[in-house]
Amino acid sequence: MDMVKAAKELLLQDRVDIFLGYRKLDGHQIPHGFTKAHVDDLDQLEISLNRYPLEKIACDLAQKDPTLKIGILARDCSQRALNLLYTWDQLNPENIETLTVNCCPSSLSTHGDCSYLKPKTTGEYKKAHGIDYNDSPKDFMAEHDSQDRLSRWMYEFQKCIKCYGCRNICPVCFCKECSLEHPNLVEPGVLPPEVPIFHLIRATHMAGRCIDCGLCEDACPAHIPLRMLYREVNDAVFDIFGYVPGDHIEKSPFSIIGKTVELTPAPMDV
Ligand code: SF4
Ligand code: SF4
Ligand code: SF4
Repeated sequence: MDMVKAAKELLLQDRVDIFLGYRKLDGHQIPHGFTKAHVDDLDQLEISLNRYPLEKIACDLAQKDPTLKIGILARDCSQRALNLLYTWDQLNPENIETLTVNCCPSSLSTHGDCSYLKPKTTGEYKKAHGIDYNDSPKDFMAEHDSQDRLSRWMYEFQKCIKCYGCRNICPVCFCKECSLEHPNLVEPGVLPPEVPIFHLIRATHMAGRCIDCGLCEDACPAHIPLRMLYREVNDAVFDIFGYVPGDHIEKSPFSIIGKTVELTPAPMDV
């Protein structure tokens, strides 16, 4: 169905209160919330795939009004992000309607190395073959031993200017208080941020969470291959738990984090 028509129907039939998409302003594609009151604005809907994560805006809106029904223009990685956000109780799937679009050819040419398009490799495969990025232009990790790879990562991390762009654009970085700004973990006013702690904090948080959209790497002004780093931790999660973040709406092996666990002490023998 025509995307504009479908989005208008969602609003006119009151199935959503707001539809998140993109429109052009002064020649730039920007995220926009379309509403029933201005439904004809949807004639300006842009579907040529701006990469700003609309699901991040949906989370902000849902925090302010948990009953809000939200429509979203969603390509494949947005749908994975939504699944992950449902898993972590950040969005209620009953309040979300998606209109799906496939990645456009220009997007695929830049991001065609999406790990979700390839079969997963197991720990045994990795033990035999090393890191499996041979078909990626960024395959320096595949060709070197662990000491060289460590040196290369330390070199990459030294380039960081602590702009927080990677975290700010990430659709699955939803914490209200971020460890990367905790002064006991990351010393304020120091550049580059302590190597490798800053990056290892984020990498461990992305284990079981990163849906490999690549937005952090696109945003990084220092061109650090962040996507490769987070694939590493997620491959370890897959090897141990068989879990692929965002693939389905399913319980995460890490979902105990942040939940209150009530412990009842066992009766003592006297
Ligand atoms: S690729 Fe980067 S931006 Fe995308 S989910 Fe993973 S960490 Fe977040
Ligand atoms: S997941 Fe980690 S890096 Fe992302 S917002 Fe939460 S604390 Fe910050
Ligand atoms: S976007 Fe790049 S430079 Fe900025 S904090 Fe993240 S890793 Fe560092």
